Amino acid sequence: DAQTVSVVVAGLGVSGTAAARGLAGSGERVIVLEAIDGERQRAAAAELAASGIEVRFGEPVLPEGTSLVITSPGWRPDHPLLVAAAEAGIAVIGEVELAWHLRASDGSAAPWLALTGTNGKTTAVRMLTSILSAAGHRALAAGNVGLPIVEAVRGPYDVLAVELSSFQLHWSSSLEPMAAAVLNVAPDHIDWHGSMEEYAAAKARIFENAGIVIYNADDDASARLAEPYGQGRRRVSFTLGVPRPGQLGVVEDLLVDRAFVPDPVNEGEELASLADVRPFAPHNVANALAAAALARAYGVPPEAVRQGLADFVPDPHRIAHVARVADVDYVDDSKATNPHAAAASLASYPSIVWIAGGQLKGADVDDLVRQAAPRLKGAVLLGADMERIREALARHAVDVPVVEVPGQDTGVMDRVVTEAARLASPGDTVLLAPAGASLDMFVSYGARGEAFARAVRRLAER
Ligand code: ADP
Repeated sequence: DAQTVSVVVAGLGVSGTAAARGLAGSGERVIVLEAIDGERQRAAAAELAASGIEVRFGEPVLPEGTSLVITSPGWRPDHPLLVAAAEAGIAVIGEVELAWHLRASDGSAAPWLALTGTNGKTTAVRMLTSILSAAGHRALAAGNVGLPIVEAVRGPYDVLAVELSSFQLHWSSSLEPMAAAVLNVAPDHIDWHGSMEEYAAAKARIFENAGIVIYNADDDASARLAEPYGQGRRRVSFTLGVPRPGQLGVVEDLLVDRAFVPDPVNEGEELASLADVRPFAPHNVANALAAAALARAYGVPPEAVRQGLADFVPDPHRIAHVARVADVDYVDDSKATNPHAAAASLASYPSIVWIAGGQLKGADVDDLVRQAAPRLKGAVLLGADMERIREALARHAVDVPVVEVPGQDTGVMDRVVTEAARLASPGDTVLLAPAGASLDMFVSYGARGEAFARAVRRLAER
């Protein structure tokens, strides 16, 4: 073939397909590499073929003449093809970096308000979008929330609320968000990044060219990432405590801004009340403050912050109240897929029967168990790593009943909920906050949450 290959897209998943589509009509020759030759992949390939993009199935091999590789989050950085590309001096970027290059260069492109963190990203980005919309801006949530950014950058938007994962940041280097926020940094996805240092370094990239650097003053790891940007860059933080100048924080029952105001040293501006944050939990107040800070960086007035938070509809499986049965509340936080998320969840209720388990992805649960101990009335464990959680409970002498429910069958969740109900007394909360991924037993965290909700409804009917 006479035409040399210029761009290779690694993987035909959501972001790879979007990247290939984004390059259609660019004049570049694009080849997509995909290992799995399945029905979904064939359909996507047929659609791309119509735009002149070739998909090659099977063991991925770098085609002759490749000058750029666009990779997908599903491919670890140590994938042989990515290593080979790097060794050959070929640039490797992700779909987010591509999106940045594809946006309009005439100054008309929508600015990005970007956000990352180990937990709370989707919630904060949706809060932000709600606030921006309440202020009358045409705003869109894009990125890791589900919509590839290449599909968003050319749309009719005033501003983009961009959720970035550590995977996406790892492969980005030139993003210039108008403002960027880090919610928190705790161990997760260490298997992908190779180490905690690499994971934190990926997260830190969000600040590299950001106009305003926003960090969580209550989270040391996030504050450390912002440290190098003290000189010559505007730095703002948020806290659940009373805000100092340059911070957003909480004064009695109000969210108060002492950063984006004319006179931060002498006064603050009320943004919203704690009652506007739903579902109410300390970690969601932090998410609301991060969203508010990004919106304020864009110039949104206080009233729109309040309205946007009040309008915000939480995504399912994030501390969602399922039912109250016999004066016990049943709460679904199936999205708590790592120990740091589960810790936030457990800190939100005073007296808990905890449902936990699943795949810990190599994470340590000792801190989690230690912090949660005073609030626990009992624990019911399921899934792959339940032994690890049981051992941690024993190590920290947590003296409450612990029930293990083995098995992989569809009836497991019913038995789990029955056991939890037996351990709970009136006033307690039965909390599904697994601390692990769901994939050992369910197709997704959503399916795990649905199974829990169904089991609770059956319990209520008994
Ligand atoms: P992400 O998109 O980062 O996965 P989500 O908004 O979907 O974040 O929330 C995932 C889970 O993380 C929630 O179900 C909750 O258990 C926990 N969580 C949410 N916000 C925070 C926060 N600010 N700090 C710690 N944990 C949080």
